[in-house]
Amino acid sequence: MAERLKGKPVADAIKEELTKKVEALKGRNIVPKLGIVRVGARPDDLFYEGGAKKTCTAVGMESEVFEYPEDIDQAAFEKAITDVGAKKDINGILMFSPLPKHLDERKIRSLIPVAKDVDCLSLGGAAKVFTDDPTGFPPCTPTACMDMIHYYNIPIKGKKCVVVGRSLVVGKPLAMLLLREHGTVTICHSRTENLPEVCKEAEILIAAVGRAKMINADYVKEGQIVIDVGINADPDNPGKYCGDVNYAEVEPIVERISPVPAGVGSVTTSVLCKQTIMACEMQNA
Ligand code: NDP
Repeated sequence: MAERLKGKPVADAIKEELTKKVEALKGRNIVPKLGIVRVGARPDDLFYEGGAKKTCTAVGMESEVFEYPEDIDQAAFEKAITDVGAKKDINGILMFSPLPKHLDERKIRSLIPVAKDVDCLSLGGAAKVFTDDPTGFPPCTPTACMDMIHYYNIPIKGKKCVVVGRSLVVGKPLAMLLLREHGTVTICHSRTENLPEVCKEAEILIAAVGRAKMINADYVKEGQIVIDVGINADPDNPGKYCGDVNYAEVEPIVERISPVPAGVGSVTTSVLCKQTIMACEMQNA
């Protein structure tokens, strides 16, 4: 039976540390604040927003939501995001994406000041992450994976790490973070040949595919550590969600595995707060 790598203890440890940092900042009359930019009201965005606000409150920092109508035009939204970016009391910005199709998202992302880009939406932010600049903030999900790996004392240096997925929000930056810590990284995607065999070679296997329960018993072997980033509607349990890993099949085989729900997803809002507090510290250094 595999050890279950739960997200909650990781999130709790981060929040404990952050609470101390916020107290120290408050001692200097500084209160870190996250700005949440939302266009429209998608249920997933509202759910994540609720969690982010709750975590901000839990660690003693502030948050403010900037909400815009679904039909806001490009010029108005460019002005809005520029104004939020210029606010002195906002240290970090989370903007929900994708934006409605009529908006030029690439251009809008570039208007987020890099120093406040705590979820790696801008090209400047991505450039920092991909050049190992420690003042850049990776997207929150890959950072959450790294925090899980660190919390559970999983060695990375020299280890074979296989990341399934190459998106800019998860797979690619995660591969960079593993590489930064001297993992030997393979990035897989939809055109990878012999994917099950490649996955079986991994010491650390990370699934960020967006396909419910795709990584099954054929992809794993004994002794592996499996981190499941996926969040998918569960085809077998309507109304529930599941990971990219078939937990029931994989768990009896591998050594350690993160569950879904209650795994990586439980850590992301704590990471968002952590990166906002880091941004605040840098802005007030
Ligand atoms: P994307 O759809 O942007 O990327 C999926 C990646 O998986 C692509 O690189 C794609 O390859 C690859 N892929 C798709 N199908 C296959 C296949 N059959 N075999 C091999 N590779 C495949 O998804 P995201 O990166 O945004 O998200 C990945 C997962 O993580 C999703 O389940 C998402 O819900 C979840 N997620 C979880 C978060 C959290 O906080 N826990 C936050 C963000 C995402 P190609 O590039 O060739 O198309």
